[in-house]
Amino acid sequence: MEMDGSSVFQYWMAVFLLPMRVLKSIEEVCNKFLWGVGVNGRKRAPVSWSRVAMPKMEGGLGIRDFKTWNKACVLRHLWNLLAKAGSLWVAWIQKYRIKGNDLWGIAANSVSSWVWKKVLKCREVAHAHVNGTGSSLTWDGKKLVKYSVKTVWNSIRIPSSSVDWFSVLWGKPFIMKHSLLVWLVVLDRITTKDHLASWGLTDVNSCVLCPGGLESRDHLFSLCSFSKAVFQVVLKKICRWPDFTDWSSHLRWVVQRWSGTTSPAKIGRLLWVMCCAYIWRERCTRVYGVKRISDPSQLSVAVMQEFEIYASSTIELQKMASVVMS
Ligand SMILES: [Zn+2]
Repeated sequence: MEMDGSSVFQYWMAVFLLPMRVLKSIEEVCNKFLWGVGVNGRKRAPVSWSRVAMPKMEGGLGIRDFKTWNKACVLRHLWNLLAKAGSLWVAWIQKYRIKGNDLWGIAANSVSSWVWKKVLKCREVAHAHVNGTGSSLTWDGKKLVKYSVKTVWNSIRIPSSSVDWFSVLWGKPFIMKHSLLVWLVVLDRITTKDHLASWGLTDVNSCVLCPGGLESRDHLFSLCSFSKAVFQVVLKKICRWPDFTDWSSHLRWVVQRWSGTTSPAKIGRLLWVMCCAYIWRERCTRVYGVKRISDPSQLSVAVMQEFEIYASSTIELQKMASVVMS
């Protein structure tokens, strides 16, 4: 049997409570993969791992936070012991460790294995959620037909407030690379010139897309005449693009209009996310002097070309695309 690195990690995570330094190292590897940041810390991740590890509904990327997930995995052992599940390991522990005593009252001793000590330590977390034993066992008052790591993880983690914009970024259909970029825009974590100036890295704040504008997230995506023209042209078949005065009113309008499951909502948010991503890409190519698209209509054509290619992947999208491509 062959196992890749991720499978090995998942296996160990499901079996043992991993040391903090191991979990920290795994976070660093994931950060490196996600942002291209160095483990030596030379380049900082634009978003903290605690934010990345939040569910999408709470403003994160939906990656499980390893520490709590690991705990939820290991709690399965405790659950199986309390449920008296039929396995060789449970039978062995019942006979040689529990010996007919109450599992909640057993203390670890000097000869207890590291694994057994960690399982016993999980009682601190489980105590507030578990009731009963054997067939009357419940988690938060509910019988689990089968132990669910996801259910348990959700009940032992500390939740954050939900955000209303997650569905315009991550509601299907979405294009990962574009949604990821707009996620950074929503969090104001893109390196606009106002941020660079506040860090002392530039003293030139002018917008490279329009004359006279000063570059910030709000300007670039809500006030800039170049960007406005891109939104207007790309979305002309499905809405009349308003004159926004700031990013928060812009985002609120998009959420109210396109967070549902109707075809216009799906197509509206997909095109909106693509517009934001293309505007940022155009801004970067101009800043770094690689090449530039001369006017908003040309950028709109580029957006629609990618949209057309993407839409050809499914019949539902093809039908939706015919509305805006006609
Ligand atoms: Zn501008």
